[in-house]
Amino acid sequence: MKRSFVILFAFIISQFQAQQGPYYQQSAKYKMDIDVNAEKFTYEGKQTLDYKNNSPDELNVVYFHLYWNAFKPNSMMDQRVAGQGKNGDSRLQKDGISRLASIPKDQEGAQNIHWIKQNGKTLKFEIQETVMKVYLAESIKPNSSTTFTLEWDAVIPQQIRRSGRNNREGVDMTMTQWYPKIAEYDYDGWATFDYIGREFHAPFADFEVNIKINKDYIIGAGGILENPTEVKGYDPNAKIKADKNKVTWKWTAKNILDFAWAADKDYIVKSFDVPQGPKVFLVYQNNDKTKVWEEAQSYLTKYYQLMNARFGKYVYPTYAFIQGGDGGMEYGMCTMILGEAQDIEGLMGLMAHEGAHSWYQQMLATNEPMRPWMDEGFTSYAEGYVMNQLFPPAQELPNSFVNSVNAYRNFIKRGIEEPAVWLGDHHDNGTSYTYASYVKGELYLVQLGYIMGEQNLTETLKQYYDQWVLKHPSDRDFLHIAQKVSGMDLKWFHHYWINTTKTIDYAIKEVKYDAKSTTITLVNNGQVPMPVDFSIITSDKKMITYQIPMNMTHTWKEKDEYGEFKTMPYWPWTQKEYSITVPYTKSQLSVLGIDFSERMADVNMKDNFVEVK
Ligand SMILES: [Zn+2]
Repeated sequence: MKRSFVILFAFIISQFQAQQGPYYQQSAKYKMDIDVNAEKFTYEGKQTLDYKNNSPDELNVVYFHLYWNAFKPNSMMDQRVAGQGKNGDSRLQKDGISRLASIPKDQEGAQNIHWIKQNGKTLKFEIQETVMKVYLAESIKPNSSTTFTLEWDAVIPQQIRRSGRNNREGVDMTMTQWYPKIAEYDYDGWATFDYIGREFHAPFADFEVNIKINKDYIIGAGGILENPTEVKGYDPNAKIKADKNKVTWKWTAKNILDFAWAADKDYIVKSFDVPQGPKVFLVYQNNDKTKVWEEAQSYLTKYYQLMNARFGKYVYPTYAFIQGGDGGMEYGMCTMILGEAQDIEGLMGLMAHEGAHSWYQQMLATNEPMRPWMDEGFTSYAEGYVMNQLFPPAQELPNSFVNSVNAYRNFIKRGIEEPAVWLGDHHDNGTSYTYASYVKGELYLVQLGYIMGEQNLTETLKQYYDQWVLKHPSDRDFLHIAQKVSGMDLKWFHHYWINTTKTIDYAIKEVKYDAKSTTITLVNNGQVPMPVDFSIITSDKKMITYQIPMNMTHTWKEKDEYGEFKTMPYWPWTQKEYSITVPYTKSQLSVLGIDFSERMADVNMKDNFVEVK
C-alpha cells in the first residue's frame, strides 16, 4: 500500500529473531466455487484446500483469517480507529469519527463459516472476529498433507478499507482478502495477526477459482483467465455463456500469496505484452477522470524492464492494474488502485509503488505485520529508483532518494519517531508507522549503498532475489547476504537503524590553514556511528574524496559510483573527533564537506560543509 497515516496505541515488543535451522515453507492449494448475488452484495463459497506441512513440527490446530469480520461496529478495527482520534487514517473516518461505527446492519462485512472438515471429518472451530482456530481431527505430521473442505457465505462490506462494495469511484466490488485464508506457519509460529487495517502474511498457494456472477459484470483479477471466450471484456469474439443470467469466470494462479479480484459493469480491459514479460492488464472505468490510463503502456513497459534488470525478473505471466479499493494495495499478480489521477506521473507513482510490491511482498514474501519496513521500505526504494528514471527531475539531484532523506530529517524534529522493529499494527501513531516502515525501510537501503558502495548494494539485491525468490526471507537473511557481498560487518548498522531511533550527526568542527596544508577536524555529534566520505573541492573544481571507514565494518568500500576515494585510517566508533590533513593551502581550496552525495541520513546538514573564503 502507499503511505497512509493511521494512529495506533503503543505496544512494546522485543526484537524478533528469524529463521533458525533448515529452511522450509508450507504450501497450499485452493479450489473455490463462488456464487455471487450482485443485487444483495453477498456470495456463497465452497473451498477445498490441500495443505502441506513441510515444517519439522506436528500440527494439531490450524488458523484461518476471516478478514471481512472486521467491518462492523465495535470490531477491533473500529476500536482502533476510534482510539486514533482525528489524526487517524481519513479513509476510515468521517469528521474524525470511525466510519465502521455507522455501517448499516445489512452492509456489515461477514464471513459465516457453515462447516469445515478435514479429510471428510467435521472439525471444531472457534472464531475470534478475524481469526478462526480449527482443532484438527488428525494432527498433520511433518512432510505430510491434509485436505480441508469448507462452506461459507459472506456479505461484501461497505467499502471502508481496501475491500468492499461501491468504492468512492463507483467500483461495485473490490474483492480482496475475501475468502477463508489459511494462516502462515513458519519458524515464528502461526501468523495470527488480527485484522485491524494493516498488512498481511500467507503461505504461497495455487488457486483455481470459479466465480459465478451476473453476466453484465467484467472481472479483473490477479491470475490467468481460463475462459476469456465465454465472458465479457477480454475477447472481442466471446460468446457469453449465461446460465439463468449468470456466467462463470474461471481463474487460476500459481504460487501467489492471495487471490484478489474486482467486478464492475463499467470496466474496460486493455492489455499489452512487455518484451520478456509480463502481459499487463489495465482494468478500469473509462471516463474523463481516468484519461491518463491511456498513456500508461509505454511507461509500464519501461517500468518492468527497469525493475527486472535491477531487482530480478518478475516470475508470473501476467499482472493486472485494477481500479478499486481505497488507494493502492498489493495482491498476488495484481493491485487495486484508485483510478482518478491528475497526470501520468501521479498515476505511475502509484503503479510503480504497487507494482514493486510484486518483488518486495509477493516474490520475496517477508512477514509484513512483523517487519513492515522490509516490504514497504524496499518497495519505496524501488519506486524511487524507477520514478527517477521514468520522470527525471528538472534539476539533477545529488541522489534519487534525497527527498526521502529530507523528509526523514524533518520528521525526526517532531519527536514522535518509533523504532522500525515494532509490529506494524502496534505503532503509537500512524505517521510514526509510515516513517518507520516506508521511509526508514527505504533509507536502510540508501544507507547501505553509502556504507558499502552502490555496486555492492546492487549485488546484494540481486543475490537476495536469487536466493529467496518465492520464499519467505527475514531481515537476517538479507543482512547475511549484504555482509557476505561487502565483506563488512553491518550488524551495528542494522541494530541502530531498525531497533532504535538514534540518529546520525557528523560535523566539520574546525579548519586550520597552514603554509603547505590544511587540517580539518571532524566531530561525531550523533549517536549512530557511520563511515565518513569527506570531500574537498579544489579551486580548480576538482573533487577529491577521503573515505574514513568506521572501525566496526572491518573493511572499506572499494569504489562507489559517486567517485574515487583515498582511503584513510579507521575512525573508531568510540572516538569523538577525527583529524585529516590535506596537501592543499587555503587558496587552493573552494569547498570542504561531508558526503556530497547526500545519501547519509545526517540529521543536521548545516555543519557538514564549509565554503573556503
Ligand atoms: Zn506499499
